[in-house]
Amino acid sequence: MKFSKQRELILNEVLNSHLHPTADSIYTSLKKTNPGLSLGTVYRNLSVLTEHGFISKLSIPNQSDRFDKNINPHAHFICEKCNNIFDIESESINKFISNLSKEDDLSISSYDIVLNGVCKSCKKDI
Ligand SMILES: [Zn+2]
Ligand SMILES: [Zn+2]
Repeated sequence: MKFSKQRELILNEVLNSHLHPTADSIYTSLKKTNPGLSLGTVYRNLSVLTEHGFISKLSIPNQSDRFDKNINPHAHFICEKCNNIFDIESESINKFISNLSKEDDLSISSYDIVLNGVCKSCKKDI
């Protein structure tokens, strides 16, 4: 796949973030140093990068899509205080998925698990 300068910038922005950024936040942060960039370009490149498996997309009901540098199947935790999204890569989730597929004879190719609650650092503030 051909990488334009802008596509590379957008990909790096996702790869360098732990926060599962939205298209808007990627646009806002790149716009500072790239005044010629348009929001449409950001959206277009994000969907091309997702289609080609460079990044993954996380759809959350009633929220903007988030983009994720982690392309392995994993669960997410959303903090209802700070709105941050954390990756959960737990052995017990993998076990749970593989047990499910054995018990019900399913072949599970992907999953989408989103847990809601309050994160560690927000819990300190309560
Ligand atoms: Zn939090
Ligand atoms: Zn993630």
